[in-house]
Amino acid sequence: MENHHQIKDGWFFETCPMWPGMGFSLQIEQVLYSKRSKFQQIDVYQTRNHGKMLALDGIIQLTEFDEFAYQEMLAHVPLFAHPCPKTVLVIGGGDGGILREVCRHDCVTDIDFCEIDEDVIKVSKQFLPSLACGFDDPRIKVHIGDGCAFVLEKKSRYDVIIVDSSDPIGPGDVLFKKPFYKGLKAALKPDGIVATQGESIFLHQEWVIRLAKITKELFIKQGYSCIMIPTYPGGNIGICLGSLGPELTKPARPVSDGVQDRLKYYSPGIHEASFILPHFAKKMLRDI
Ligand code: SAM
Repeated sequence: MENHHQIKDGWFFETCPMWPGMGFSLQIEQVLYSKRSKFQQIDVYQTRNHGKMLALDGIIQLTEFDEFAYQEMLAHVPLFAHPCPKTVLVIGGGDGGILREVCRHDCVTDIDFCEIDEDVIKVSKQFLPSLACGFDDPRIKVHIGDGCAFVLEKKSRYDVIIVDSSDPIGPGDVLFKKPFYKGLKAALKPDGIVATQGESIFLHQEWVIRLAKITKELFIKQGYSCIMIPTYPGGNIGICLGSLGPELTKPARPVSDGVQDRLKYYSPGIHEASFILPHFAKKMLRDI
């Protein structure tokens, strides 16, 4: 897979065919890790103002500065929309940030985790302990392999499935296709919820529409939740959601004070607000 970044005069510069004619830069102080795994180029940098940063094939996956926005929303929107999630599957997310958030739910008893690239897990454990602490919980079973193949073997097993995938270029490609979504549906219990990395309503409309069409066709309820996050392309990213029962746009149970105090982005208010989309996006998704 092509590497999408350059380093020049102490600046990391990201470009990508998925957002043509646009680039994003962060000033870096040190390259902490840089090596190709079996699947992708893995780089970790110490940035000047954004903490450590993980890039895969030159695409920013997270910075310590704003990762909480993405991890909290991708985990807590589907988990709080479910009245009592017990069994959860997380696909991708080798950094451990989604696991860290899932583990805040005491009602969850079993968490399967499937990541294709074990080197992302190793590197995150070494350089990103504030995310990789997510792996410490005994409820988690780690599986190394392709998330699509893993899902296709499971039937009616999970209350919630969360797909923390990289973009649909490289190993994440298979996680944006209909056979995978059919597998997700089959792997859910009858009132289950799925939440997947849903790209940007500004920059990736073709992908947003494609995922919305698939979820609308397969699930009883479908939704798109929008997250502000400065270091992702265009400063935003979405969650594509499908539900076989529960309402998606509101929490189904209270957020305890103990949990709320530890969160920085998610709250019941932002849960509901994240589904209110700018007018163009509302029309775009209404007309599919
Ligand atoms: N939050 C990030 C974003 O949207 O930029 C994604 C972060 S997470 C690091 C993405 C993970 O998905 C990577 O660790 C990658 O190895 C994993 N991944 C990609 N394709 C996969 C597949 N087919 N099965 C399982 N994991 C996959």
